[in-house]
Amino acid sequence: MNLLIINCGSSSAKIEVINSQNGKRLAFMNIERILEHPSILFDDNEKINLKSKGHIDVLNEAFPIFINKIKHINILAVGHRVVHGGTHFDEATLINEEVEKIIDDLSDLAPLHNPINLKGIQIAKKYFKEIPHVAVFDTAFHNTLPRRAKTYALPHSISQKYHIQRYGFHGTSHEYVAKEAAQYLSSDIEDLRIITCHLGNGCSIAAIEYGRSVETSMGMTPLEGLVMGTRSGDIDAGILTYLQQKEGLSLKELDKLLNKESGLKGLSEGSSDMRDIIARASEGDDACRLAIQVFAHRLRKYIGAYSAVMGGVDVIVFTGGIGENSPMIRHRCTQRLDYLGAIINEDKNHDVALSINQPIAEFSWNHSKVKLLAIKTDEQLSIARQTATLVNNHKEINPIPAIPVAISARHIHLSQETLEKLFGKGYELTEKKPLSQPNQFAANETVKVIGPKNTFETVRILGPVRSKDQLEISRTDEFFLGIDAPIRESGKTENTPGCILEGPMGKVEMKEGVICAWRHIHMTPKDAEIFGVEDRDIVDVKINSEERSLTFGNVLIRVSPKYKLEMHIDTDEGNAAEIQRGATGVLLSTDSEARLSRRKLK
Ligand code: ADP
Repeated sequence: MNLLIINCGSSSAKIEVINSQNGKRLAFMNIERILEHPSILFDDNEKINLKSKGHIDVLNEAFPIFINKIKHINILAVGHRVVHGGTHFDEATLINEEVEKIIDDLSDLAPLHNPINLKGIQIAKKYFKEIPHVAVFDTAFHNTLPRRAKTYALPHSISQKYHIQRYGFHGTSHEYVAKEAAQYLSSDIEDLRIITCHLGNGCSIAAIEYGRSVETSMGMTPLEGLVMGTRSGDIDAGILTYLQQKEGLSLKELDKLLNKESGLKGLSEGSSDMRDIIARASEGDDACRLAIQVFAHRLRKYIGAYSAVMGGVDVIVFTGGIGENSPMIRHRCTQRLDYLGAIINEDKNHDVALSINQPIAEFSWNHSKVKLLAIKTDEQLSIARQTATLVNNHKEINPIPAIPVAISARHIHLSQETLEKLFGKGYELTEKKPLSQPNQFAANETVKVIGPKNTFETVRILGPVRSKDQLEISRTDEFFLGIDAPIRESGKTENTPGCILEGPMGKVEMKEGVICAWRHIHMTPKDAEIFGVEDRDIVDVKINSEERSLTFGNVLIRVSPKYKLEMHIDTDEGNAAEIQRGATGVLLSTDSEARLSRRKLK
């Protein structure tokens, strides 16, 4: 399913077209500096400076340009990143007026994010009217936090009145890397205790116990917890009142101090970028050395705490720009974790080099009870998958067509040469009735098929004539005729057995061309795009008939503009599944994330 994913931030917007099944990026536009000097960068490296300023005008100027670039792509739904879902949303949600109102009401809790996310939604709805829009919330994954973890020790009445509690953020990333880790380890996420460390400009850590987030370091706002690029993370709240007293700071100034001037930037009195800090530390800068020590110490403290919360840990994951790219930070945070059963392999840690093709690397010793992993996070893909799952599960908005299933009875395709040998010189097939595939027909003519054991008196010829003879029969037919024919895709008749054909004007020995047709689905390139498959992919299909539903593995995809969407199975398969008229099939996903079970024909 091709989806538009919109991540609208305070000064930038990332807008991408992603195929949710295969994760391919089909197009993107990044809008930078929305408030001052907006410009767009496209995936083809084109850069456009925009005339307008501010979110509404900039998006209104940018969308038509992007839409023009992606007009050849069939987009089926739009997924929006929304930062705060409060206690209302614990999963991706279809956006309607009521949902928009709740997002707006939650602006109090996320004043820098929710109003802008909402603007993105409203403008995108103007340009993509007919398709579903889905909100994926940063907070949703942490909605499972137990009461004891999300409650602050403040007077109950105050917390209730102002909805003060731990909400947690970066949920999309924590959930994504935890699932990737489980899949990498061939385990069920419900059997694992995972600590995920998202270390980017913003940093947070989560304890994911058997699939549920049970603790996370960001709290009511994204300010609490780890040391971040410009945010302080945990501090003694007494410092605020003390500073107010001593420096007479206003609320706005305090907010700026904690959110924009602290963290790595404050500690180093310079950069908020970990790369600069590491570089300066290696040149002997003491403030930068201390910044790294405080950063790593805080994280190690949380790892210990979260292991205690879960009664142990099986996997520790590092992600985000720092977690994915810095061996030094991973080393400092995971050394001396032997007491937990986590033993870092320094060589492997040093050699981690994540990429799109290699998004996961293990850097613990094989004998380490706790696995240490670095995983490339992909929030946009996670939003795409959650959007696809929701759309797939809502019948009324699911744009993916059901695949009509047709049973093909035994039949034969003939070359003009064979036709003339059987029916006479210059003979032309006559149409009895058209077939569902365009320009194909069942002919009035039939031939006799003679095998070593038995004979079929009348086998229908399908027209028009082809370059090669090909008899397509079922396994049961093979036993009857006494021919052992392989399962083949249509047209691949090399090294197949033959048989004798007989028509009104004589007999022909067909040297090869008897096959048991490989079950397949015909589709147009547009269908293929909707299903996220390519010609000659092999997929699994669940067929829902009235009597029973059955899954057919190893179904071959055939794509051509000439085809009409239809799955073809032979009579044996039709009987096995008790297929009735009107039966349909769906391509099967391997997991709840709408990832298609798809392999390539060798
Ligand atoms: P965001 O939170 O904005 O998505 P990222 O996940 O891209 O940010 O992380 C940005 C952080 O990652 C910056 O502090 C940057 O310095 C850091 N980073 C990126 N590459 C490296 C590296 N090779 N070594 C250390 N830090 C790195």
